[in-house]
Amino acid sequence: MRCPYCAGENTQVKDSRPTEENAAIRRRRICPDCGGRFTTFERVQLRELTVVKRSGRKVPFERDKLMRSVEVALRKRPIERERIERMVSGLVRQLESSGESEVASSTIGGLVMEALRGLDPVAYVRFASVYRDFREAADFHEVLSEIAGEPVAAPVAAHEAARIALQSPVVAAAPLKKH
Ligand SMILES: [Zn+2]
Repeated sequence: MRCPYCAGENTQVKDSRPTEENAAIRRRRICPDCGGRFTTFERVQLRELTVVKRSGRKVPFERDKLMRSVEVALRKRPIERERIERMVSGLVRQLESSGESEVASSTIGGLVMEALRGLDPVAYVRFASVYRDFREAADFHEVLSEIAGEPVAAPVAAHEAARIALQSPVVAAAPLKKH
């Protein structure tokens, strides 16, 4: 594994242990050239996936990117790391088992929204507001009424979720970039 700091090729594994309920192996690595430390994860990959962006551009699917967009939506929310990891693993498994090797970014966005809806209403509103590219208040009200009409996991009222989501600066940081 090449060092992410100095690109040295001599990195060594210092520690290796199962994580995410034995669904992954976490490895602590060190670079003897620059002293840099980093972590890698080994996970089952059932198949190679390609994401088709709105522009038609194709890029390899990356779990880390998906995780980052979920993390942005869940920033400062009281959700355990383990649950987030499980949710993302579940999303990846759904994508991998869909039978298609190419998946539209909008399909992924829809799956993430569905998953977040059950996990945390604030994160759901944040993600939905970016993913759906709200331009009109009407869109926002639509999502709020969706939340209001659905039983959600966390006890937060729909407009409370909206208030928190709107106050948060993460709405500006698009989880799934559109090109
Ligand atoms: Zn290095």
